[in-house]
This record gives sequence, structure tokens and C-alpha cells, in this order.
Amino acid sequence: MTARALDGRAVAREIYEQVAAGVATRVAQGKPRPKLVTVVVGDDPASAQYVRMKQKNAKQVGIDSEDHRLPPETITEQLLELVQRLSRDEAVSGILVQQPAPPHIDMTRVIEALDPVKDVDGFHPVNAGLVALGLPGGVKPCTPAGILELLERAGIPIEGANAVVVGRSNLVGKPTALLLLKRNATVTICHTRTRDLASHTRTADILVAAAGRANLITQDMVKPGASVVDVSTVWADGKQVGDLGPGVGEVAGWLTPNPGGVGPMTRAMLIKNTYEAEVRRRP
Ligand code: NAP
Repeated sequence: MTARALDGRAVAREIYEQVAAGVATRVAQGKPRPKLVTVVVGDDPASAQYVRMKQKNAKQVGIDSEDHRLPPETITEQLLELVQRLSRDEAVSGILVQQPAPPHIDMTRVIEALDPVKDVDGFHPVNAGLVALGLPGGVKPCTPAGILELLERAGIPIEGANAVVVGRSNLVGKPTALLLLKRNATVTICHTRTRDLASHTRTADILVAAAGRANLITQDMVKPGASVVDVSTVWADGKQVGDLGPGVGEVAGWLTPNPGGVGPMTRAMLIKNTYEAEVRRRP
């Protein structure tokens, strides 16, 4: 492999150090510690594990955390009541409702019930709208914000670059494209109805693959020297892989390891968002 690594673990460590220093300074000034509240409905072991990792990351940097575990039979109204109470609670900086929730829960209503300032996932329509409008002041969704942070900290030029995003989900593809556009990239969004995917990906100086399809992006679909971000977490033969086929690292200039690229950045951005939510609310 000749591509340089876009090392998400190393950049995430830098972010944790910066947040930890910010928290320590605030505490020394007599300000309260930021507090992250996580909510999990049901007993999905993967969700429980994700939330444990997020709480561990919060603790590492001096952010307090609190976890609410609700039984699988919880109804939307009960979750709404909790989210509204946490939104009003002065001591709470950020609220995260782990997804997926059981299918009977109306997550649109739950997210809309969050105070947008405490929506550290950046999913509330107010925050999504601020990203779409390119306006400051909102909370950016963690995975797209993490991708931009990785590119920027590596010094990869974004302004004027051809950026191709494969995937148009509200969680990843669409906000990533909008953040790249905000940084003055020329952005193309591809999806399952795109004709001749390779003709688009080959033009990409920055290629973000977020389709969740193993081996979708083959070596011949990548422009030599391109910066390639593999967002996807797909499992093949018992190990985590992404959208990239073998040999992409021989052509790309920069490449995210997978695992170890976008995943650690997503968690770090949640912690950064929690800290910034506290600073914004109580400067
Ligand atoms: P999603 O909601 O399933 O969206 C996938 C997108 O990819 C859709 O827009 C889909 O197009 C497009 N797509 C699928 N197959 C394609 C193909 N053959 N050609 C072109 N486009 C194709 O998934 P998501 O939530 O955006 O997540 C994407 C991947 O990232 C998943 O593997 C997920 O696990 C991973 N992920 C990782 C992190 C992390 O922190 N590392 C965070 C979030 C997500 P249509 O819209 O036309 O269906």
C-alpha cells in the first residue's frame, strides 16, 4: 500500500486532548462539568456496547455521563417525556438517543422533542437545516463532521476539489456533501440510481464511500492520488471491511484505514459536540 493513512485514531486522540484541556480550564474557573446523557431503548447488545464506549470516551476527558436504559416495550410518549425532561434539565449539556430504537418508536417525534442545543448527534431538523443553509451555530452530525476534520487536519485541499460522495442518506452522505460544499468543493452525490458510478468516482480528488456495500469501489474507479474516505462498516468473513475493494491503497494518495478511520472520529466528534454544546449554552 502506498497511500498515506488518514489515521482516525490519532486525530481522535488529538481531539480528546483538546476537549480535556477545555473541560479542565472550565472546571478550574468554577464552571460545572459538561454532562452527556445517553438513552437506550430495548436490549440490543450492539447499542449497549456503543453507548458504553461513548460514556468511556466522555469520562476520559472529564465529561460527566448518565445512562438511561428503557425496556423494549417503552412507548414513544414515555421516551418523549424523558427527552423533554432532560432538555429542560439545566445540568444536562448533551442528549443522545441511541439508534436503532425498536420499530414501534417514532424517532422523528423523539428527535424533534430534543432541545436542538443539546442534540449532540446533530439530527434535529434545526441543526440539519443550519447545515443545509451553510449557517454557523448549529450542531454538525458526528460522522460527516469527523470526515471533514480528518481531511482538514491532514491538510488535504478541499476548496476547488472535485468531491464525490457515494451515498445520500440523511445520516452520512447528504450532510457530508453539504459540509464539503460549504468548504467550496465541487460536489457530486451518487446513489443506487446513478448511471455509470465509475465515471463519477474517477473524477474525484476526494472520494467519500458511504454505501455500505463491500467491494463497491474497485481500484480502477479511483483517480490516482485521490483522498479516499471509507465510511462503511460492512462485515465480511468475520471482519470489518468497508466499500473499498483490494488495491485501492495502491492508487489513492490518502486513505482511511477501516477500522481505525471514520469510526473513531465519529465518537470523538460526539464528545467535541457535547463540550461545545455546554460552552454555547453556558459560556
Ligand atoms: P444507508 O442509509 O443504507 O445509505 C446507503 C446509501 O448508499 C444510500 O444512499 C444508497 O443509495 C447508496 N448506495 C447503496 N448501494 C449503492 C450502490 N451500489 N451504488 C451507489 N450507491 C449505493 O447507510 P448510511 O447510514 O448512510 O451508512 C452507510 C455506511 O456507513 C454503512 O455501512 C454504515 O454502517 C456506515 N456508517 C459508519 C459510521 C462510522 O462511524 N464509521 C457511521 C455511520 C454509518 P439509495 O439512496 O439510492 O438507496
